[in-house]
Amino acid sequence: MKNKFTLLFLSAIIFFSSCKKDAILTTPAPQPPIVVPPVAPPTDATDSTLLLGNPSSATDNEADFGNYLMKEGYYSLSYNRDRGTPNWVSWHVVYTDFGSFARQNDFRANPNLPETWYKVAATSYSASGFDRGHVCPSSDRTSTLEANSATFLMTNIIPQAPNNNQGPWASLETYCRSLVQAGNELYVIAGVYGEGGVGNSGAATTVDNGKVTVPSNLWKVIVVLPDGANDLSRVKNNSRVISVIMPNINTISTDWRSFRTSVDYIEDQTGYDVLSKVSTSIQNVIEAKVDDL
Ligand code: MN
Ligand code: MN
Repeated sequence: MKNKFTLLFLSAIIFFSSCKKDAILTTPAPQPPIVVPPVAPPTDATDSTLLLGNPSSATDNEADFGNYLMKEGYYSLSYNRDRGTPNWVSWHVVYTDFGSFARQNDFRANPNLPETWYKVAATSYSASGFDRGHVCPSSDRTSTLEANSATFLMTNIIPQAPNNNQGPWASLETYCRSLVQAGNELYVIAGVYGEGGVGNSGAATTVDNGKVTVPSNLWKVIVVLPDGANDLSRVKNNSRVISVIMPNINTISTDWRSFRTSVDYIEDQTGYDVLSKVSTSIQNVIEAKVDDL
């Protein structure tokens, strides 16, 4: 009797364990882990940040202290020593720029500034009522820790009214990333002009004891191209170009679309030639248009 039960018990174990085996066999074979190719840091040869031009003909000559070219790989910029901010920053966004690296928040002085120049620091805007506003956004650079960290150099930062930075400026940044996720690549050039903004502590023309000029206006030009190669030659009369100018104030609409203007108007206000590498005849067409999508 005891043996019979044992036999039944053992048969049951064998039966169920063979069922389990079958179940394993019918499960799809495990997939190899997704391998994300390493995103190489940009080199001079792969630097596409100034493909559409250098709007103010910035140079890396220290004597050009109001228009000093800095190539950070992940973006390039014209720095203004006496304003303590960039004049403009230029960068390229493709879907491989988006990864899983979190916001590093490592705001810091740029060690590559000429030795004798004042270096705006992480704490320079403290208690000023202005945000440390990114020009090239942190969220456009999440492919590697290095890429994200590069956006926190203070040479990529401007004193920005919080309701501008967190309002229409942020909405436009998010909209741009949605265009990339939808199969486009972007060339973005953005900068500042004028003096005096209104932040959380009211109006100001400078912060950091006069070392940093608060701009009155922020501007941005975005050239939208479907993903592809030979980008400069693909900029055509019908290419979508989104341009905005936003005042650096706290009483500001949250709707980025309400700030659209033409590249021509931005060029009038700044004295720059944006998209200068694009043929003059195409510039004449795309710079006169105001985006209406
Ligand atoms: Mn921002
Ligand atoms: Mn132009």
